Amino acid sequence: MLTLQSDAVSLNRHAEGWRDALEQAGRALVDGGLAEQGYGEALFEREQQSSTWLGNGIAIPHGTPASRDYVKTTGLRLLQFPQGVEWHDGNRVHLLVTIAAQSDEHLDILRRLTHVIDREGVAEKLAAADDPEEVIALLSKAPVEARFDGDTIISKVPARSTLELAAVAASRLNQLGCVDTTFLADVLASEPVALGQQLWLTRSATGVATPALALALPESPVEGVAGLFCLAESGDGHRALLDRLIGVLEEGRGEELSRLSREALLSRLSGESASAETAKVRVRNAHGLHARPAKQLVQVARNQPLAVRVRLADGGAEPVSAASLTKVIGLGARRGQMLIFSAEGDGAREAVDAMAEALRGGLGEEVAPLGETSDARPSRNRTTPREPVPAPQADTPLAAVPASPGMAIAPVFVMRPPEFHYEETAADPARQKSRLGEAIGEANTQLAGMIAGSGGEVAEILSMHEEMLSDPELEQAAGEAIDEGASAEAGWWRAIDVAARAQEALADRLLAERAADLRDVGRRVLGNLCGVQMPDPPDHPYILVTDDVGPSDVARLDTQRVRGILTARGGATSHSAILARSLGIPAVVGAGESIMALENGVELILDGERGRAIPAPNSERRARTELSIREREKLEREAFEVRFEQAVTEDGHRVEVAANLGNTAHAEDAVERGAEGVGLLRTEFIFMAHPEAPDLDTQIAEYRRAFDALGDRPLVARTLDVGGDKPLDYWPVPPEDNPFLGLRGIRLALTRPEVLETQIRALLMAAESRPLRIMFPMVKDVEEFHAAKAIFDRVQAEVAAPDVQLGVMIEVPSCALLAPSLAEHVDFFSIGTNDLTQYTLAIDRGHSRLSAQADGLHPAVLALIRMTVAAAHARGRWVGVCGELGSDPQAIPVLTGLGVDELSVSSRQVPLVKQRIRRLSLDRSRALAERVLTLSTAAEVRALLEEELT
Ligand code: PEP
Ligand code: MG
Repeated sequence: MLTLQSDAVSLNRHAEGWRDALEQAGRALVDGGLAEQGYGEALFEREQQSSTWLGNGIAIPHGTPASRDYVKTTGLRLLQFPQGVEWHDGNRVHLLVTIAAQSDEHLDILRRLTHVIDREGVAEKLAAADDPEEVIALLSKAPVEARFDGDTIISKVPARSTLELAAVAASRLNQLGCVDTTFLADVLASEPVALGQQLWLTRSATGVATPALALALPESPVEGVAGLFCLAESGDGHRALLDRLIGVLEEGRGEELSRLSREALLSRLSGESASAETAKVRVRNAHGLHARPAKQLVQVARNQPLAVRVRLADGGAEPVSAASLTKVIGLGARRGQMLIFSAEGDGAREAVDAMAEALRGGLGEEVAPLGETSDARPSRNRTTPREPVPAPQADTPLAAVPASPGMAIAPVFVMRPPEFHYEETAADPARQKSRLGEAIGEANTQLAGMIAGSGGEVAEILSMHEEMLSDPELEQAAGEAIDEGASAEAGWWRAIDVAARAQEALADRLLAERAADLRDVGRRVLGNLCGVQMPDPPDHPYILVTDDVGPSDVARLDTQRVRGILTARGGATSHSAILARSLGIPAVVGAGESIMALENGVELILDGERGRAIPAPNSERRARTELSIREREKLEREAFEVRFEQAVTEDGHRVEVAANLGNTAHAEDAVERGAEGVGLLRTEFIFMAHPEAPDLDTQIAEYRRAFDALGDRPLVARTLDVGGDKPLDYWPVPPEDNPFLGLRGIRLALTRPEVLETQIRALLMAAESRPLRIMFPMVKDVEEFHAAKAIFDRVQAEVAAPDVQLGVMIEVPSCALLAPSLAEHVDFFSIGTNDLTQYTLAIDRGHSRLSAQADGLHPAVLALIRMTVAAAHARGRWVGVCGELGSDPQAIPVLTGLGVDELSVSSRQVPLVKQRIRRLSLDRSRALAERVLTLSTAAEVRALLEEELT
């Protein structure tokens, strides 16, 4: 997606007429280094073909496809004409959004613009804006629609309760990247509610990246349960979808939903009536449904005697009027996506057929069949073998990213992509085509056999592979390559690769991931052609070692046998990681290429807690690991029994253990798990759950809920921490090159002091006389703290709350280095080790390749923690740790030894963390902390701790 910088906006322009305005626009692109001179001409050419006026005072001049060679870099220039310019079609233009585009990236812009001009008053605001940032902020508001599509419907779930269905539905949303694991935890902790008509609903606003609705349908009848909806809510994105679901229930047609095909279900919940005539057509225009073809399509719709509606088959949104240009462009339909036209009444069939016909005909553009994109680059044959990399050494820990907790010992099964050797060319096309036909037939038989032997989601994915295989376009494309002299193998792989690349180019992440399925199917056929067997996993328990696990691979995993997953690539947020967590399988990801050279059957220790894999462990290490697996199970049981007791070391030193929360509704659960308070309330999640900043009363109610659940236990609330990786829809931040180093945390909050003031007021009012601790995030020095404290002081003078402390989070190294100067003014510190590690080691905490090295046990981070504690204790202040490090079993003794007074961890971890502390001695922990501080790398620290703690 293109992002805008303020230098792309030029305000307060004046033009003699539309030609002058267009010339200015062309010059702005050239001066901005986006295009060469000739592009200005192309803007006129394009305008002559048809007007680029979009509506509500906006025109979007852009060049013709032939002029793309003049484009140096894809980008935009926005020119504002406050007095307006009369356009050649008689309309008045106030804003020119001039586009230089090398590919179809401008579709995103168009899509965004159509949503902008659909919103009341925004076009006027654009015309009147006197600050470039304001224009950018207005244009940056991406539309949010709740996702509900073929991929969020999960049928044949082998579940026996609503909770199991909820787990599956929430995991699916997690796999699709709509929610994070806190959503999963939240859903699992709440009871689904009955909607009536055997339908159930579970919902949460925690950890929602994209609003979405999943539906899980049981494989065999479950009493009183025909299906369960799982709603990830955020802002208003889900409202329309929920209303439509309620509409279906009000019609008394809820129960029948579970019996409908996936397509009919989508249609019903999109608001399409059951009696509507529909037609499905795939968009084949090279650059999707951009302005020109969209105009033609709209024209066809307007010529129909009745209303025609259109929607994306995979979009999940309501159908829109096919006669509205902004709505049609707003679909953002790209090449390869399927559109569904619908109409009702006399002549509906003819109308939708006319629409389908027009789209098939290209709407005035030449259209190539899918799989023949003109810009497809020569393919790298993915079947070529990799450069050999030596296998990791026996009995040597390999550090990677801990992705799913738990430990396992088992022989490995390395899922290597098979190697295929074949001739590229052949002189006998007829024979090659018949070989290909046979290989496809054989693949079909194999898939049918596998489907018969499987069930649930696995069968579904394999059936999808069958469907892919029966796509005539694939065989046809391969046939054409064979006619040009390719062998059956080369022709087939070319067809697969081109189709997979087209799929990868789709904007929808999940559709793009289907490319992996296509290659999977392609390899099956290739295997048949070359006589190469696909690898079969062993029938005993094993640890799966693979390059990366795609969704279909995981669906095929036999969870009875797979004891763990180790991947060469991917980060903690990769599919493999997310899927493993949802399946409860220990996983370590991003371990590097060398693991692919492991011999099948080699025994491996997988440590999902510490993010390590140890091949061929010696017998002592093996015995130690077995012991720790048993120990962990025992510890978990014991810990839960004594969860309400304090965490006191053997030699009488107490460490408080509190819970991290993102949702005040979970405070009760935290107390139930033994938390001695809330050590970090991530208040931004409360803000994210609302379509606009929650007002004073809403916030008071939210915070009061936590105080009520906590009784006299303290609540540490972090003030709004947005920006960086946590954008807030209604508080747009201009695009930044380094958002983590930009306007985030307290820096952003201080730009709107009134928001911070309301939040502090709400916290103080909700607390009354109960213990409240307020802390500011991302503070870099005492100056920033004072700026925030000034707001606090103002409010505190008005609202009396007797038990309040004010602190800062130690997340930026400067703050730890200057802790003595801060300790003088604060009541406490809470160390956010996630950010402190990222900023100390200069490693993005979410980086897919580097995040394994972002280890909070790095001696540099530990040294900063020591400085913080020393400065705080010298002034009688307390120090907590609220980052992930607080629940790392190896870190607990070190943090205790460093003198940290409180650990705040996820609620589920509270009992275990308490129990681990009870087994420590303060003296030994201190000595251990001193020793690790003399080391030079995180690996050395972990190695020493491994030795000392096992
Ligand atoms: C941290 O940075 O360690 C922290 C607790 O804050 P967050 O993870 O919310 O950024
Ligand atoms: Mg942080």
